[in-house]
Amino acid sequence: MIAAGLGSFLRAVQDLCFPPRCLACGQRLASSRPPLFCASCAGGLRSIASPICTSCGRPFPDAAGGDHLCGPCLRGSWHFTRARALFLYTTPIAKAIHGLKYGHTTAALATFRFFFQARQAELALAIPDRIVPVPLHPHRLRQRGFNQALLLARTLFPGHPDIRPDLLERHRATPPQTRLSGEVRRRNLKGAFRVVNPGEVAGKSVLLLDDVFTTGATVDECARALRHAGAGEVQVLTMARVEES
Ligand SMILES: [Zn+2]
Ligand SMILES: [Zn+2]
Repeated sequence: MIAAGLGSFLRAVQDLCFPPRCLACGQRLASSRPPLFCASCAGGLRSIASPICTSCGRPFPDAAGGDHLCGPCLRGSWHFTRARALFLYTTPIAKAIHGLKYGHTTAALATFRFFFQARQAELALAIPDRIVPVPLHPHRLRQRGFNQALLLARTLFPGHPDIRPDLLERHRATPPQTRLSGEVRRRNLKGAFRVVNPGEVAGKSVLLLDDVFTTGATVDECARALRHAGAGEVQVLTMARVEES
């Protein structure tokens, strides 16, 4: 009771000294309690909810009916078992993810943890043996100083004993992928990831963590390397997913 009182007192002092701001528009907020979005930006969040594709997690526009496989997943398959994302990649989430990479790290992490905890049950991801953040190329890692996917893994799964940034290596730099089509991305990424110690993933279930699922090419290439090294099930969790046009 006393500890809780002290906690809210310290939060109030902190809010006074470092006024919390909306992760998307920068407007001052009354409290640093997550989620750190003002009412207007929170209105622009789009949660991904059923009905979705049971494999890639793509949401279906028609709210009627249950989860099922989407057309592309019926025609071809991924190397991961299922991919799930919390939100569509709309402006407020894009800005929060940008903050995660380039500045307001603590506030963004607290906000993603808040959303993940609220929706963990509905995501229905099996607890994995290993949690593997999608690695950055060492050069990019040196520039940024940290891997945002690793920060997310530690924030969302604080008690998990096997968060392993050392298992997968990005050994080839790839050009920025943002403007490329899925097919070109896939070609660029071919062989870009390597499992460092296959013995550590053989027969294990793995959860891959990344900030955004764009075409799925990156996580699929990671999943391919992991499966090739003998991993069992590979699941994917991202904070956001780009909506197909
Ligand atoms: Zn805002
Ligand atoms: Zn699908």
